[in-house]
Amino acid sequence: MPFKFDVQKRAAYREPAPIDRDTPFQSMMERFDVAAEILELTPGFYEYLCRPARMHVTSIPVEMDSGRIKVFEGYRVIHNNVLGPSKGGIRFAPDVTLNEVKALAAWMTWKCSLVDLPFGGAKGGVVCDPEELSPKELERLTRRYTADLFDVFGPDKDIPAPDMNTNEQIMAWVLDTYSMHARRTENAVVTGKPVALGGSKGRREATGRGVMTVALAAMEQLSLTPSDCTVAVQGFGNVGGTAARLLAEQGCTVVAVSDVTGGYYNKRGLDLEEMRAHVRQNGGTLAGYEKAQSITNEELLTLDVDVLVPAAKEDQIDREIAEDLGARIIAEGANGPTHPEADEVLAEKEVLVIPDILANAGGVTASYFEWVQNREGFFWTEDEVNQRLDRMMRRAFDKVYATADEHDVSLRIGAYVLGVRRVAEALRMRGIYA
Ligand code: GLU
Repeated sequence: MPFKFDVQKRAAYREPAPIDRDTPFQSMMERFDVAAEILELTPGFYEYLCRPARMHVTSIPVEMDSGRIKVFEGYRVIHNNVLGPSKGGIRFAPDVTLNEVKALAAWMTWKCSLVDLPFGGAKGGVVCDPEELSPKELERLTRRYTADLFDVFGPDKDIPAPDMNTNEQIMAWVLDTYSMHARRTENAVVTGKPVALGGSKGRREATGRGVMTVALAAMEQLSLTPSDCTVAVQGFGNVGGTAARLLAEQGCTVVAVSDVTGGYYNKRGLDLEEMRAHVRQNGGTLAGYEKAQSITNEELLTLDVDVLVPAAKEDQIDREIAEDLGARIIAEGANGPTHPEADEVLAEKEVLVIPDILANAGGVTASYFEWVQNREGFFWTEDEVNQRLDRMMRRAFDKVYATADEHDVSLRIGAYVLGVRRVAEALRMRGIYA
C-alpha cells in the first residue's frame, strides 16, 4: 500500500482528547487514516469526521414474562449528519458494545456518502440475546428502547432500520411506538418495515441483491463468466441466503454456505431451495442437514472458490485466514468482516476485495427508496426498485473502481476516499457553526 499515515501527525491530530481506538472502531480508523492522508484532510476536519457527533446510552427496563424487571443496555450513535438525517440499523446481540456501534455508525456515514444518498450515518444496539426472549419480551424491549430515543429518531433526524437479529416485525413496533408518541402515523421514521405498513417492495432482499450486483461487476473486471464461477457464502441469513440464491440464479455454482451450526459443502453445488426449507422446518438453522459435507468455518473461508461472500459478522478474515484464502473475489456482505491486518495479505495475493461499505450498501439504498416512497405517499413496483438498485450499485462500483485506480490503492481505500470526500466537501461548504 503506497500511502502510510504519519503516526506522529496522527497523534497530533488526536490532541487534546484521545479517541477510543479499540477494535472494531480501530479497524474503521485504520482505513479512514489512509483516506484522510490521500484527501489531505486538515487536522480539524480529521478530528471532526472521525468522531461520532452524538452517542446515546440508555438503560431499558423490561418487565419479563416472569414478572421480574430486567434492565438492558441500549445504544444509538449518530456518527455524522452533514449530508442529511442519519441512517442506520439497530442490532440486538448479547455481545454488542458501544465501540462496535460507533464503528458501525461511521461505516454507515461512508456507505451512504459513497452511494450518493442524502443521509448521514448512525447505528443502534441493544445488549440482549433475542433467542432467550419471548416475543412479548422482545416487543416490550423494542418499544421501551424506541420511547427512550423518541427525541433522537424522526424522519428528518435519524431513521433506524433492521440489522443483525432485528427484522420487519421489530421495525413495525418501532413505527407504532414512535407514532403513538408523535400522535400521528409516521411511517418514514423507520425503514425495513413490512410492506403492509409502508415498507418497500424489494427491501428485504436488497442487501443480498446488491452483493450479487457488485460480485458480477467484479467478475466482469476479471473476465470471469458467472456460469464458470464457484461461490462460498459465510452466513445463511437475510444477506448471505439471498446473495447465495441470486448468484445461483445468475449461473454460479454455490458450493458452500454456513450458519451458526457450521459449514455445509458440496463441490457439485448445493440445493439452496432445499436448504431454505430445512431451515424453516428445523427451528431456523441448518443443523442436521445431511445432503452436504460438514466443514468448519475456517475451511469455508479458505475454500478454493472464485467468489467468497462473508455475510456473518466482524473480523472473520484475519491475517492467517487471508494467507490460506483461495478465493479470487471477496464480496463483503457483512460489515467489517476483514481485519485490517488481512488487507495487506489480500492485496499481495491480488484478491479483489469489494469492501463492506460498497458491497452491502444495497440495503440502505433500498431503505432510501422506502423513505422517498413514504414521503411521497406513492409506491413503486418491485421491478422499479430492483432496476434503480442495480443501477445505483453498479454506478457506485464503477466510481469506487475508478477512484482506486486513480490513487493506486485497493477498492477498500478507494471506497473510503469517495465516502469521506463527499462528506468533507459538504462540511467545507456548510462551515462550522459557532
Ligand atoms: N443495517 C443495514 C446496514 O448496515 C441497513 C441500514 C439501513 O437500511 O438504514 O447497512
